[in-house]
Amino acid sequence: MKVFEDFIGRGGDIFVKAEAFHNAVCAGELPLKPTLGHRIQGAADTVSTLSDASGLKEVLMFGSNSYLNLTSHPQVVCAAKEACERYGYGAGAVSLYAGMTDLHRELELLIARFYQTEDALVLPSGYGSNVGLIAALCQPGDVIVNDAFNHASIFDGCKLSGAEVKIYPHANMAGLERILSRIPDSVKGRLIVTDGVFSMHGDVAPLDQITALAQRYGARVMVDDAHGIGVVGPSGRGSAEVFGLTHQIDLHAGVLSKAPGGLGGFCAGKKAVINYLRYYTRSYFFSTALPASVVAGLIEVFKLLEDDRAGRQQLMNNVAYLKQGLSHLGFTIGNSASGIVPVVIGHEDKLIALHQGLYAKGLYCNIVTYPAVRRKECRLRLCVMSSMKREQLDRAIHIFASEGERLGLIQKKQAL
Ligand code: PMP
Repeated sequence: MKVFEDFIGRGGDIFVKAEAFHNAVCAGELPLKPTLGHRIQGAADTVSTLSDASGLKEVLMFGSNSYLNLTSHPQVVCAAKEACERYGYGAGAVSLYAGMTDLHRELELLIARFYQTEDALVLPSGYGSNVGLIAALCQPGDVIVNDAFNHASIFDGCKLSGAEVKIYPHANMAGLERILSRIPDSVKGRLIVTDGVFSMHGDVAPLDQITALAQRYGARVMVDDAHGIGVVGPSGRGSAEVFGLTHQIDLHAGVLSKAPGGLGGFCAGKKAVINYLRYYTRSYFFSTALPASVVAGLIEVFKLLEDDRAGRQQLMNNVAYLKQGLSHLGFTIGNSASGIVPVVIGHEDKLIALHQGLYAKGLYCNIVTYPAVRRKECRLRLCVMSSMKREQLDRAIHIFASEGERLGLIQKKQAL
């Protein structure tokens, strides 16, 4: 079997690597087709219908980040439809050139209030917002310090900024301190960036220690709360709330596509900083605004999130139940504390066989290997939904038990 890195060619015509990749995929030399690219036949729900080359299949859906089922919440969809009627289906311009409606500004203020900050900015893409925000904030001569497991968009933003980039091993606070302590005094531009909830692991960043170190070494802290917003924290206000530290984070960034169920990115913080970012973030300034329909849906989402009425407790109950069932079977599930439950396999052939076996038995989840994680930590990622019923979770655990035993990944065990 070939792997992705085999096709990152250097030299020669720039299309040669593309031809080689395409030929390998067609010849079945890369295990992409059976594992990636299924097509969903409606809004993601607990049970969804997917299509692939062999037809339609009904599956238990563990592959959607719509943890709170807000993509299809009636109040959200209704607001989106009304806004579509009024504003049309696209924004037609970048925000600062007639692409921004009153709805966009209302959403920004709701997000600012949600994170108890002075102001917020809404950007048209989650990925693009990390890239653009970091590149706007940092320049050559600054230092950006990253957790090794940060999202690709953060690393891409770092590259684009031209700043010096330092990386500490995942959640390793001694490693972070070592880096901070070695930054020369003359370097005043210091930014620590971390995922709030790590997207392939589901654990929460130790923000209590990160903010303490930032204070000691004069660094700013930016948190990408993509998978934390609406899910973790005593009232669902994200990773900083887990530690009661909402006010100590300089920039609450994140995306509106996971639990909020829409699309786009955001950044909340001090008014002056947000105002600066509005003019210097190129992925905002030079990119068409979100459609008003998405924004209107998100406004309803934030009303639900603000009062913690979006089903977060049910989601966390479901996560706890699934984690208990899978770890009882003997699977390695890490220390997730969010809507993400990883099942670490560590061997790509077995991972692919398990993924295919689960799918054949009616369970769909995400398959994750390099470059999203190191190959020896390859895994399945199960994204739990608040609407999942006990029987469905039991069925999922049962399918894992039978496929895990068949492939020799776990010993036979009595169900709980
Ligand atoms: N940050 C993190 C931590 C993510 O997991 C993702 C989604 N893969 C993004 C940013 C990018 O968000 P989007 O998919 O909305 O562009």
